[in-house]
Amino acid sequence: MRVLGIETSCDETGVAIYDTSHTGGSGLLADALYSQIAMHAEYGGVVPELASRDHTRKLLPLIEQVLHDAKLTRNDLDGIAYTAGPGLVGALMVGASTAHGMARALDIPVLGVHHMEGHLLAPMLEDDAPDFPFVALLVSGGHTQLVEVQALGHYQLLGESVDDAAGEAFDKAAKMLGLAYPGGPHVAKLAEQGDPKRFRFPRPMTDRPGLDFSFSGLKTHTLTAIRQLEAAGELDTQAKADVARAFEEAVVDTLVIKCRRALDQTGLKRLVVAGGVSANQRLRERLAVETEKRNARSYYPRGRFCTDNGAMIAYVGAQRLAAGEHDDNGVMKATPRWPLDTLTPT
Ligand code: ATP
Ligand code: MG
Ligand code: FE
Repeated sequence: MRVLGIETSCDETGVAIYDTSHTGGSGLLADALYSQIAMHAEYGGVVPELASRDHTRKLLPLIEQVLHDAKLTRNDLDGIAYTAGPGLVGALMVGASTAHGMARALDIPVLGVHHMEGHLLAPMLEDDAPDFPFVALLVSGGHTQLVEVQALGHYQLLGESVDDAAGEAFDKAAKMLGLAYPGGPHVAKLAEQGDPKRFRFPRPMTDRPGLDFSFSGLKTHTLTAIRQLEAAGELDTQAKADVARAFEEAVVDTLVIKCRRALDQTGLKRLVVAGGVSANQRLRERLAVETEKRNARSYYPRGRFCTDNGAMIAYVGAQRLAAGEHDDNGVMKATPRWPLDTLTPT
């Protein structure tokens, strides 16, 4: 079954085609991405109305492009999947209405899928994809969650952030340091020059049991440190790098501690890390050491599939459409809030 996947939940327009007659990454026939980052950077964050309009402009040309790259025509498609949530409602509507319009015209099934299930299963597109069951750490711009995954659609939430997501914290810290949006990669780059011994920032909620996270206090701590340096006339490039390093170490250490706990608590030996923050090199290095100590292994999507993309939506949609799922009676879905653990197996 050849499935077109459409991602428009936030600030990237992603389109891909996945073919279920292959397995893993070889099923990915084509994928294309248009990032709106440059447009939103001017405002320091995503402007929802601009996002919707830009998806409208870019989506159809991207669909033409992936069909061309896969040497297919629309008539070769057997189904269409789109991100139905969570995300910005206007942005979601662009993907949902396009998917439904095309599916109606082609008389093929269409399915709205969960954006975080896409992130969660993105490592399935790699050659060394993990087997079920596994623990997943979802770390993105809007989510920080630990999930016990028994099978596709079988998700048990182990813990999550009670306030800011890890990616959001990176973005806010970047803003305070005068770095561009989205801030994660910029903070990480600046942190390389930082002295890890100069400051030590708190590791929130690690001093008590449990698998929840909190990153808003760390944000305040970062702001206070920057203001104090500024007041003392010491906020030079090196000081900024030292702050970036302390911030990154604190976030990474917190994530690592909770992953360790989740592996111990579940007794599982596989850890999947996905979402934009999973691109962070320091996080990967630390988790490699920790999993090795436990005789466990960590799995990641390739770099460009850590952040939003159409490939993960095509993959999830293809699995579910092939199992017979589809939207009822042509009713399109756009669900800004949609808890992951309400999903069901195929
Ligand atoms: P969600 O998936 O929760 O709806 P989103 O789609 O906006 O949110 P993603 O596209 O998965 O999130 O990830 C973007 C986030 O990842 C941003 O917050 C960005 O700063 C962060 N990020 C990207 N690369 C890195 C990195 N190398 N280190 C730390 N953070 C990073
Ligand atoms: Mg994004
Ligand atoms: Fe995302």
